[in-house]
Amino acid sequence: MAKIAFIGLGNMGQPMATCLVKAGHDVVVFDLVESAMQALEAAGAKAAPSAAAAAEGAEYVISMLPAGQHVERLYLGPDGLLARLPTGSVVVDSSTIDAMTARKVGAEAQAQGITFVDAPVSGGIGGAKAGTLTFIVGGAESAFEQVKSVLEPMARHVFHAGDLGAGQVAKACNNMLLAVLMAGTTEALALGVKNGLDPAVLSNIMQQSSGGNWVLNGYNPWPGVMPGAPASNDYQGGFQVDLMLKDLGLATDMATASHAAMPMGALARNLYALHAQRGHGKQDFSSLQFFFTSAE
Ligand code: NAD
Repeated sequence: MAKIAFIGLGNMGQPMATCLVKAGHDVVVFDLVESAMQALEAAGAKAAPSAAAAAEGAEYVISMLPAGQHVERLYLGPDGLLARLPTGSVVVDSSTIDAMTARKVGAEAQAQGITFVDAPVSGGIGGAKAGTLTFIVGGAESAFEQVKSVLEPMARHVFHAGDLGAGQVAKACNNMLLAVLMAGTTEALALGVKNGLDPAVLSNIMQQSSGGNWVLNGYNPWPGVMPGAPASNDYQGGFQVDLMLKDLGLATDMATASHAAMPMGALARNLYALHAQRGHGKQDFSSLQFFFTSAE
């Protein structure tokens, strides 16, 4: 069993670290918010007073932080972890951040003989709790082989997307597509209901027809259609609009830098920006349904 430092115990990090404890790993945790560490201590992890203290003697460091600036500060900032970790350590950053920051931290790690991979995840809080996340890993083939087994207690799938940063590129593409699918699905449901259809009947028809997609299969945005979905829980407990907006910003930056056209993603980003401005930032991203129904 491995000695693992886990940094960042928010909505995702907390259940992910718990999966590692349950798998029998020796886990030391740190979060800036002290109360976030209590659940992990109760589950059997040790809490550390700082990220540096958590990383002391660890074979693996896993981070799950909000955005690129947090990751850069943790590893490269004053008192940053890369300057403290011994050669041969392995670092996995699972935060969803820009590929450029992932490559910058990865290159610095490499220069110090530390293995680094970017490994953002898909599957949400439900997947984190169930240990069924999809990890999308960017890094050398040898690094991928090194991290695979430590990710497995948290994962259903562990993919190797390519070199350093490739995990973040694939994640941004996936979430851009997900935003477009959600926008299209909420629009279609509102159109059907306005024209007299029952949203559950329409959902079932589209699910079995050529409009079928991931959103209709497991994340229906219309309240009451799918009992387990955030839409049936007042749009709580899922993937926040603000985080989707952040990811659409990452896709937009990537498209700008690579001169790629991204018309559908741009439209989805604008819809989510307006939706957040109207006070829905902390709700699940399927609350975009309100965008098409709130005027009724
Ligand atoms: P969150 O805001 O709930 O948690 C982030 C945690 O990091 C907080 O507890 C915060 O205190 C801690 N933190 C920040 N800076 C720190 C530092 N320097 N040292 C220690 N702790 C620090 O966010 P989340 O929902 O857990 O998401 C984390 C990442 O995973 C984000 O990049 C997000 O985009 C991505 N993600 C989220 C979901 C989801 O459904 N929530 C799904 C897939 C990916």
